[in-house]
Amino acid sequence: MENCIFCKIVDGKIPSTKIYEDDEVIAFNDIHPLARVHFLLVPKLHVESLASCEVQHQAMLGKLLLLAPKLAKEQGLVGFRTMVNTGKEGGQEVFHLHVHVFGGSDFLPKT
Ligand code: AMP
Ligand code: ZN
Repeated sequence: MENCIFCKIVDGKIPSTKIYEDDEVIAFNDIHPLARVHFLLVPKLHVESLASCEVQHQAMLGKLLLLAPKLAKEQGLVGFRTMVNTGKEGGQEVFHLHVHVFGGSDFLPKT
């Protein structure tokens, strides 16, 4: 996707603080962290949002969720919050699927 900021990060055209990468997924720190640790898990495949996912994305979705606790632990977190904003009305600003993982602060906004 030409104008997608996360595709540009995946392609290395925009710098990021990468904490993990494999052939399907990249994880990097959010530029506006909501907590001491805040990173994003992003599939390399451009999928707009959770609402655009279909059964062929099932394994990728499972992989993102399995990576969340592994990377959170590596980042020093004991507990953490995951968040997937979906659609403009769901607070999504970057329309390339991503899972927020954050924690490590005394205060986390109440859901
Ligand atoms: P969302 O509202 O779920 O779409 O969240 C998008 C997130 O991407 C926000 O928390 C932004 O701070 C973050 N973000 C936007 N641009 C970048 C970037 N270049 N590097 C890291 N995080 C970014
Ligand atoms: Zn993209």
